[in-house]
Amino acid sequence: MTDPAFKTRFAPSPTGLLHLGNVRTALFNYLLAAGRGGVFLLRLEDTDAARGEEKYEQALQHDLRWLSLDWQEGPGCERGHGPYAQTERGEIYRDYFSLLQEQGLAYPCFCSEHELKLERKAQRAARRAPRYSGRCRALSHEQVQERFAAGTPATLRFHVPDNVAIEFEDRVRGPQRFASDDIGDFVIRRSDGTPAFFFSNAVDDALMGVTLVVRGEDHLTNTPRQILLLRALGLPVSEYAHIALVVGADGAPLSKRHGSRTVQELREEGFLPIAIVNYLARLGHTYVDNTLMALGRLAAEFDMARLHRAPARFDRAQLLHWQKEAVARATDEELWAWLCRHHYPDGQATAALVPPDRALGFVQAVRDNIIMPGDARQWAAVLFSDNPPVENEAAALVRATGAVFFETALACLERGGDDFKAYAGAVGAATGAKGKSLFMPLRAVLTGATHGPEMGRLWTLLGPARVRRRLEQAVQHLAS
Ligand code: GLU
Repeated sequence: MTDPAFKTRFAPSPTGLLHLGNVRTALFNYLLAAGRGGVFLLRLEDTDAARGEEKYEQALQHDLRWLSLDWQEGPGCERGHGPYAQTERGEIYRDYFSLLQEQGLAYPCFCSEHELKLERKAQRAARRAPRYSGRCRALSHEQVQERFAAGTPATLRFHVPDNVAIEFEDRVRGPQRFASDDIGDFVIRRSDGTPAFFFSNAVDDALMGVTLVVRGEDHLTNTPRQILLLRALGLPVSEYAHIALVVGADGAPLSKRHGSRTVQELREEGFLPIAIVNYLARLGHTYVDNTLMALGRLAAEFDMARLHRAPARFDRAQLLHWQKEAVARATDEELWAWLCRHHYPDGQATAALVPPDRALGFVQAVRDNIIMPGDARQWAAVLFSDNPPVENEAAALVRATGAVFFETALACLERGGDDFKAYAGAVGAATGAKGKSLFMPLRAVLTGATHGPEMGRLWTLLGPARVRRRLEQAVQHLAS
């Protein structure tokens, strides 16, 4: 299906790194557009961004691309509605501010922060909802000019009409109805001349041809204000879908203490992009199919009717489940590339210990035993370092087995041994050990662990010299 008139968008404020909550919003918008053959637009809402935060604009674009959430319109993909960074749209906003002022629908407000605070306090004391009284609306032309002449800072406020009902059908939450009398005249231009969120966000959605806005439900009460503004400006109003927020296991808004991460941190930890998108696409949304899906299928089967209204709970165990699925589905070559790409804070690549000619053999041996690159690094250390880590349980088993067994095992090496099965058979015949009591001591002494990948593969990767050294060391150690 292609429907180029269908357009969703992601409109982040680049004031920090993308975290799981906001990237999920991006993903839902992406999937909806991709599923309909529409356009996914990226807009940078940078009017608040302090100087020097360009790095966040770069970082969020990098994160989206890394997740393959490519936008068809936005920075670097001009399609006639740009620029796509709000700081570059000042002139456009100016025209619309003028339009409102000419119609008497916006007025300068000279109230100071202090005055506004007192007003709110008085309203609360009188048990009324805090709302701007509209005081500056009553100023005469002369009074306004006087204040301007005196250099009093002014914001621009939108004059909210009296006694109007604002109704819309939210695509997730159903019919919505708000009364304009509950909404005070709100600021659309700050005193420094920059547009306020309500204004630039709504105007840009309209001018950029966005037809569906999917965003967090914390924006639900902004929507009636934005609809009033768009109506006043004669601009089209998109459809809206306000999605439930992501919370931690304790129900509180997601934060670092829930183990939630920025996309950058997840990438550095070694999560695969396809694992992250499979997890997020199911965070507050249900698919019939619970297997790992490529983005195209996630898009084709994404269904707004299956979005949950209750808050979505972040669960790291689920994220790890999808990571496991992603590792299981990747080819050996993809996994090797992943291990080579992944670096530790010490600068070492996960794959650094693996001799290049053993690369694929290594991946084949360990792939069922790894979820994160750290697991692979551990197996690489087991197989290719001279001081492999030894688990306590393995050390205890080697001690309990005793020197005689390993001396015999060492002697059996002389009969050659490309094949672990044949070798173990020879050790069994020579020691009388069978089953677990044959295989476990061999595994423990050769790998320093009592569990792990198939021994036959590990045997080949260890190679005869290392096998011999480990047996000799065990014998020496037990004899001393
Ligand atoms: N810049 C706003 C934010 O990051 C956009 C909200 C919206 O999606 O409309 O919260």
